[in-house]
Amino acid sequence: MQTKRYDVVVLGGGIAGVAAAVQAARCGMKAALVEKTIFPGGLATTGLVYLYLPLCDGFGHQILFGMAEELYQASMKYGPGQREEKRYMGIFSPASFILALDEILDDAGVDVWYDTLFCKSCVTEGRLEAVEVENNSGRLRLEAGCFVDATGDGDAAVSAGAGYTEGSNTPAIWEIHHADGALKNSRALSDGQERFCGNWKDYEYPGVSGRVVTDFVRDTRRRLRRFYQEKYAADPELKHKFFSMLLPSMATFRRTRAVTGLATMCNANEEAVFEDSVALINEWRCAGPVREVPYGALIPRGVKGLLTAGRCISSIEESWEWTRVIPAAAVTGQIAGFAADMAVRGNVSPEAVDVKELQKKLLAEKFYLHRPDFCTFRRKREEKADEGHVK
Ligand SMILES: Cc1cc2nc3c(=O)[nH]c(=O)nc-3n(C[C@H](O)[C@H](O)[C@H](O)COP(=O)(O)OP(=O)(O)OC[C@H]3O[C@@H](n4cnc5c(N)ncnc54)[C@H](O)[C@@H]3O)c2cc1C
Repeated sequence: MQTKRYDVVVLGGGIAGVAAAVQAARCGMKAALVEKTIFPGGLATTGLVYLYLPLCDGFGHQILFGMAEELYQASMKYGPGQREEKRYMGIFSPASFILALDEILDDAGVDVWYDTLFCKSCVTEGRLEAVEVENNSGRLRLEAGCFVDATGDGDAAVSAGAGYTEGSNTPAIWEIHHADGALKNSRALSDGQERFCGNWKDYEYPGVSGRVVTDFVRDTRRRLRRFYQEKYAADPELKHKFFSMLLPSMATFRRTRAVTGLATMCNANEEAVFEDSVALINEWRCAGPVREVPYGALIPRGVKGLLTAGRCISSIEESWEWTRVIPAAAVTGQIAGFAADMAVRGNVSPEAVDVKELQKKLLAEKFYLHRPDFCTFRRKREEKADEGHVK
């Protein structure tokens, strides 16, 4: 089997994986990104989930910075985009975002492997030393000083022996369809094209397995057919004006596996102040609440040489809703990129990285780390606004 050696290998080229690989490469690492499709962006692009959720707290204060903001801007670089008025968020064209993500990866010098499937973790004495991947050339062994699992499903961590919490998923499918007069609709991307979100709550699919993936996608497409059948039964002419144009090319699972970390974000610690906090993230469903992300949530328990990023970090219950979305995936991806660089330079496993140094790097990116600091800042700013000093 052919072997290649990198400093950092990132598995999964979704938003978290792109952020991790780009950040590691920008730090000077020889970084590779392995992605099983031919597109970067994961659910945000391949899954057609093209709503970049907010970077702000809903009261006019930006909370997420760094690559979360950079990728938000990039999502609208090659397309119109549409910014919301009330929150710092917006919709984008998935294809346009793919073009911009490719460019960011190119500029950073990441060695991208598309159409390449992560197959197996190779662990020696508890440390992940290499992964086996497969593509048209056959099996390839990739070695690295540090790995990042950004597969969304925690495939590399689980293959390396890590534990996990299994999620569940209600049927959901997002598509882009043609609809005459779509521009009148706020979800329209351009004249005649808008997105459709099918979300059904009558069934729950367990975590993930080969069988579940197939059952899930066939079920959601069957439901979508039924949606059109009902429309066309009422008006057969509608099929010339209202029809599906693009379907997701990956299963649209929200929660599959949360890899058990040295720390786990959960309901019991939702207001905790973590000494090793590496980011503050926001609630996207309502204005106000913020939560700290402990560095330990990115470190799989019992496996050395590996970090997780994105929707498979150690975050369960309500916290999973916060950490699994696009902006938070960019945040944890960027943190993993910085931490992987520090681990390789220090010749240590990620859990031995100097967290204070890591926090300094994140503060330089304008990250907030702790709830009390942000809440004090927010209160003072609001007091000033009341006095008329801040608009
Ligand atoms: C129905 C639905 C609606 C959503 N709505 C929104 C929304 O409106 N706004 C929002 O911000 N977020 C939304 N989300 C969540 C969000 O899109 C994703 O959770 C987020 O983008 C996760 O990014 P990620 O990089 O962690 O994982 P993913 O996007 O899942 O990326 C993982 C990548 O790894 C690759 N991969 C997986 N296994 C392998 C392997 N073995 N080998 C190689 N590559 C592999 C995949 O192909 C994929 O590209 C939604 C999710 C769903 C399912």
